[in-house]
Amino acid sequence: MKYIGIDIGGTNLKAGMVDEGGRLIAVKKMKIASVNDAASLAWTLHALVMDLCKETGTEEAELFSVGVGCPGTVEIRGGSIINTCNLPFHNVPLRRLYHQMSSTPLYIENDANCAALGEFYAGAGRGSKRFITVTLGTGVGGGIIHNGKIYHGSNGMGGEVGHMTVQMNGEPCPCGNVGCWEQYASATALKRQTKAAWEQHPHSILAKVIEEQGRVSGQSAFIAARMGCGVGQEVCDRYIDYLAVGIINLINIFQPETLAIGGGVSNEADEMLLFPLRERVAARVIAGNHEKKTNIVKAELGNDAGLIGAALLGRKKRII
Ligand SMILES: [Zn+2]
Repeated sequence: MKYIGIDIGGTNLKAGMVDEGGRLIAVKKMKIASVNDAASLAWTLHALVMDLCKETGTEEAELFSVGVGCPGTVEIRGGSIINTCNLPFHNVPLRRLYHQMSSTPLYIENDANCAALGEFYAGAGRGSKRFITVTLGTGVGGGIIHNGKIYHGSNGMGGEVGHMTVQMNGEPCPCGNVGCWEQYASATALKRQTKAAWEQHPHSILAKVIEEQGRVSGQSAFIAARMGCGVGQEVCDRYIDYLAVGIINLINIFQPETLAIGGGVSNEADEMLLFPLRERVAARVIAGNHEKKTNIVKAELGNDAGLIGAALLGRKKRII
């Protein structure tokens, strides 16, 4: 059996075929700009599925399921897109529209949850029953897997880890609240903190690094810290402190076997990020049984996690 996942992104539609072992065997990508209404979305998704089948010599009947990962709010039971942030899709009954063309089962899920499911089945979460992903990007995305299933809460909005409050009167967040974790622990936040330090210390090693890079990046402070820059080290320490705060909260509430960190920032060298993070978390987390403390690791599937997770939405059995 083969599985197809489709990732609806802000600029691209990406479709991938996955085998029984959770491996990607073919990928197709196209711009989403030409797709601007519900019917053409369903039609385009089906065309992508048929393209992948043709390319891999697969009959449509050999597909176990098609899974769609979508940014924003989805209604998983009915298979509908309720709302997307940057795309013109609102209240789209995607499953119903898709089944006018095909009888392959279609599942839909929030894209961050798809990434968690991908890592759970085929990446850093293999072997864990309770597993959490935290993705450090523009915001802080996350997904919670409990007893092998995505945790949705009562209304489908569960697992929005980036919007836990870590400062009562903190930075404003696009969600409408203030002091959300992602305002301190996302890659965007790290860049903002780096920029502020650069402006305050225009003669630091950090300033030289940024001038050489030609821009502030999520790596600037780490590069400067490695060169012995106190200003850069301070930015890194503060960032890792905030990262640790959210992770301590997640572990104290859920006590998963594994928590994986993904996104661009997570590619930083272990001695600069993962090791100091583990130290800070270990010092403050509640851990009754040391045999069963949460293992904090890096995510393994990179940008493919969401696509693989979407493909495996219909899967019920673990990959061994
Ligand atoms: Zn927020």
